[in-house]
Parts: sequence; structure tokens; C-alpha cells
Amino acid sequence: MSCLEFPRDAAPDFTGKAKKDFNDAETMKPRAPAQVPQDLKNGGRVKADGARPEGVYRPDYRMLTPYMQSPDYVQMSTAAAITLGVVPGKMHRTGCTRCLNLLLTYPEGCRANCAYCGLARHREAERDYADRNFIRVDWPAVPYDEVLEIIQSGGDKGQFHRMCISMITHPRSDDDTRTVLRKWTERIDHIPVSILSNPTTMARQDVQDLKDLGAEIFTVALDAANPDIFDQTRGRGVQSPHSWDKYWDVMKAAAEIFGPEKFGAHIIVGMGESEYDVLKVVQDLRDMGGHSHMFAFFPEKGSLMDHLPPVPRTQWRRVQLARYLIDYREARLENMRFDESGSLVDFGVPESDLQAVIDAGTAFRTSGCPGKEAEDISACDRPYGDSPPSDIASYPFKLNKKDVKKVRRQLALEGMDGDD
Ligand code: SF4
Repeated sequence: MSCLEFPRDAAPDFTGKAKKDFNDAETMKPRAPAQVPQDLKNGGRVKADGARPEGVYRPDYRMLTPYMQSPDYVQMSTAAAITLGVVPGKMHRTGCTRCLNLLLTYPEGCRANCAYCGLARHREAERDYADRNFIRVDWPAVPYDEVLEIIQSGGDKGQFHRMCISMITHPRSDDDTRTVLRKWTERIDHIPVSILSNPTTMARQDVQDLKDLGAEIFTVALDAANPDIFDQTRGRGVQSPHSWDKYWDVMKAAAEIFGPEKFGAHIIVGMGESEYDVLKVVQDLRDMGGHSHMFAFFPEKGSLMDHLPPVPRTQWRRVQLARYLIDYREARLENMRFDESGSLVDFGVPESDLQAVIDAGTAFRTSGCPGKEAEDISACDRPYGDSPPSDIASYPFKLNKKDVKKVRRQLALEGMDGDD
């Protein structure tokens, strides 16, 4: 079954490879990016043809992609497009998404080359930017004024609890993010906005501008949990411009400008880092006043890591649970214990508390910026963005008893220490 009932499956399922207990650094090496012919660089194919867009564009790599640019056009997740009603489709066990994820779009696409990402620059020869799969799904392009019209007239039936602007690495991204945000806050006051930032092109004043224009939450897609993995997957290792230090500089600026509970970072689990590495970042962010939003590594089709295994479920569940305990139950990293490879062996909380959190199931739902339900329930539910529905990593809905039973099996807690 595809992740969403949609005409075309963007990415295959890799669950058969999920046999290991841990994705180690030795295994998780991206392949080198191939050379792109000169005439295909920077959206050459799309710009040479210059086809005018007409209304909603649904990704189709068998036809020439029209020339679309933000802020006139934005892309949105398939789940958001279904919820907004601009494309037909159904989702497994959920009727809608609560977050309108918007992605800036240009023929040149993102100028970075992150190894795990379907939007990366090295794909220029193979697929036009607006046709690239990202977090396992297609991203239809929609005129931004049409999006605003639908939301303002209540066409989303109140289903969205949050809107998020995903910046990319592009010379126009900072200016156009301001424009998209300004247009939103001028017309819509009942749906708060998050920014998924691109620190590489940003200075402190850019962070301040977004706060002044009405953004509520600012997040940094740190993605990698330690400096080596960062450099290997989104820095010099893959001819990409990002740097760990710059990302943390912008994170610190966001902590000061947006304040407690209003900033955070994305982290991908299973790219070769240890569980300790991830939870150290989680604790550091919590101590700064922010939250972490977790993604299970999944080999995105067409990315430089599409030959590698998804994060094993045992590793993922342990980290998911520990992150929730730190973020929402005041657990602390220094009370947790790890083995010599950095794998968690003791959550450092009373056994009864641990069991109650597992039974509640919230820890295993998608994490992200909150909606209207509760502080620990993400509006950004990204249905099947990090797994197929047959083996859900981040649940985009409330878990039932059967789901909790499955999660318990995946956690494999037998043999782990618990405090009585
Ligand atoms: S900067 Fe973001 S969108 Fe661009 S390649 Fe990296 S992860 Fe993908």
C-alpha cells in the first residue's frame, strides 16, 4: 500500500531492511553526488522552456515542469493539499493533517545538497525541483493567493491548527519568507505560523524580522545530532554549504528573540549518531527553553542515502520515549544511563511513570510545533513522512491499544533497567 492513496507512489517501502538493532556510523555513509551537466544546473530545463503555470500543479516528472516561483507559488505536502481540498486523496487512518506545511519553490530549487533529502541539488539532472519527493511524498504547487482565499473563506473547515513556512537554501528565500508571512498575518489571525528556517543564509536580524512580522515559533532543521554527522550529510562531505556552528548561532538567536517554548530544532534519528548524541541535543535544547522535533531516518528515494536502512524500530522507540520524557516529563539526561556504544539502557525515571507514559502513547506520535489540542501534541503530524503505514515510526493520530502493544514490542524493554 502506498503511504497515501494518491495517483503515484513517490517512494518505496524499505521495511524489509529494518533488521538491525542500531544504525552505526560505519554503515550510514552517503554516496558521493554525481556531476550535473552544465545546461541542467540551476533549473536550466525549466527556465529554457519557460512554460506558464496554470493553477495547481501536481508533480509529474513525465511532463515539463512550469516556471513557478515563490512568493506567487508555494508547494505543500500531499497531506496539506488533500486537507485544503486542492487535490483529491485519502490517508491511512487519518482524515486530515493539522499543519499546512508550505515550501518555497523556485526552478533552481534548494542550493544545498543534504544527503538524506529528496530536494537536494544533486538531483537537478534527474528531476525538476517541483517534481521531487520530500519526506516520502509529492509536494503539489499552488498559487499562494489561492491558498489564502481558501483559508480566509473557511474552506479548510477549521482543520488546520498551524501553518509552517519551510525555507530552503536559495538567495531569495529570506525575502520571500517575509513576504509569505506578511501576506498571511495581514489576512489570517486564527492560525499561528511557524518558521522552519534556513540558518545558512540568515543573520540575527532576519530572525528578529520574522518575529516582528508575526511568526509564533521558530525552528531550525538541525537534522544531524553531532558535528561529524552534520558535516558528512549536509556540509563538506556532500559539497553542501551548511555548518554546525552557524546552525547553533541562529538557534541561540532564536532562543533569545522568540523565547521559551517558542523555538526548537528538528533532529533525524538513525544517521549514524548514538542515542546519547541525540538525547544530549534534546537536553541542551530543553535547558535553553526549546523543544526537539524528531524524525526517524528513512531512505528517501533519489537521495544520497536511499541505499541505506531506515532507523531500526528499537533504536527509534527508545529515543522517541526518552525525548518525550525530557521535553514533557522533566526527566534529565544525567539520570539516564547508556552503554559503551551510547545506547540507552536506563530511562532514569520510576518504572511506574515509564509504564504510564508508554500506555498513554503520546510519546510515539509525530513531534513538532503544537496545535490546539495540547502542548505535547503536534499540529505538524506529517502523515507517513518518515515511514510507510505498514510500519509507522511517527503516529499521525492517537494510538489505540493495538498500536501501544506493537510499540511495546518494538521498545524491547526486557533487559533494560528501570527504577523501582
Ligand atoms: S537545506 Fe533543507 S531542503 Fe535543502 S537539501 Fe538540505 S534538507 Fe533539503
